[in-house]
Amino acid sequence: MIVVFEQGADKSRVDHVVTLIREMGLREHVIVGTERTVVACIGDERKMDIERVENVPGVEKVMPVLAPYKMASREVKKDRSVVPMGGTLGASAGGKKIALIAGPCSVEDRVKLLEVAHAVKEAGATALRGGAFKPRTSPYAFQGMGEKGLEILAEAREQTGLAVVTEVMSIEQVPLVAKYADVFQVGARNMQNYNLLWAVGEQKKTVLLKRGLSATLEEFMLAAEYVMSRGNSNVILCERGIRTFESYCRNTLPLAIVPEVHRISHLPIIVDPSQGTGHAHLVPDMCRASVACGADGLIIECHSDPEHALTDGAQSITPQGLKSLMVSLRKIAAAVDRDI
Ligand code: PEP
Ligand code: MN
Repeated sequence: MIVVFEQGADKSRVDHVVTLIREMGLREHVIVGTERTVVACIGDERKMDIERVENVPGVEKVMPVLAPYKMASREVKKDRSVVPMGGTLGASAGGKKIALIAGPCSVEDRVKLLEVAHAVKEAGATALRGGAFKPRTSPYAFQGMGEKGLEILAEAREQTGLAVVTEVMSIEQVPLVAKYADVFQVGARNMQNYNLLWAVGEQKKTVLLKRGLSATLEEFMLAAEYVMSRGNSNVILCERGIRTFESYCRNTLPLAIVPEVHRISHLPIIVDPSQGTGHAHLVPDMCRASVACGADGLIIECHSDPEHALTDGAQSITPQGLKSLMVSLRKIAAAVDRDI
């Protein structure tokens, strides 16, 4: 249920409703919008005495949220959320400025990482990606540098101001990754690791939630709801392609999800055309397409020597490639009333 207040309703009325909701054994999530305040009630809705809440002066109506996800739903919050990402360059997703997150698939080497960090910043990125813990299909493949990789990422932030986006694979890694990262990436393979979703929901850093390889949009939204239901509203959704029968690309990148997410949710959605296609030659066009259809950001794998990358070289563009891509991205962004 959501409690919708009249325009300009007094804060004391909102506080009173919050008290009532708690008395009924539910929890609240207060959303102060530009026009009006809404309180989402979380928990077993059968416990809710709707009439009592409806009778509070200042309350306009109490209504059910039809979507199975509540806090992520547009029904609860009409204004788009702008989710901060950290760093010192004002990185965020969901506002007029399109978030550009770029960097290697994994952190491989200190000097190379610092070099690529400066290069992506130069190209216009406000956040740096790079995995220190890598979810690999084979247990024999390079698994990432672990804490050493996180230290290098933090050093890159020191030097550049870029926000650090890196994957957390398990609950045990949450405190360690939190020490170094600005944004927790929850990978596609973990989108339905509900205990991990709860763990990142219980801390304050922004969560970049990737869509599962075979997850429906509703499952994706419910995964975001897991994070938000534990108190962390700073969630950025990321479309990274799904598994289909098609084989010319690593994954199939369904961009229609971008306008659809904007229709059903207030959360920002960014696109990962690198995992989304698997081929560097397809990445620039899919970046352009993503911006054209309204994506709130891009996360791009960028490596100065893709041929020798330890992971995902085939889908990595070079810093030079990123720089030239930006020329057309700026024009497309302007055409859809955005900046990049
Ligand atoms: C990645 O970003 O390198 C990655 C492993 O992503 P995903 O979880 O989308 O496969
Ligand atoms: Mn990768």
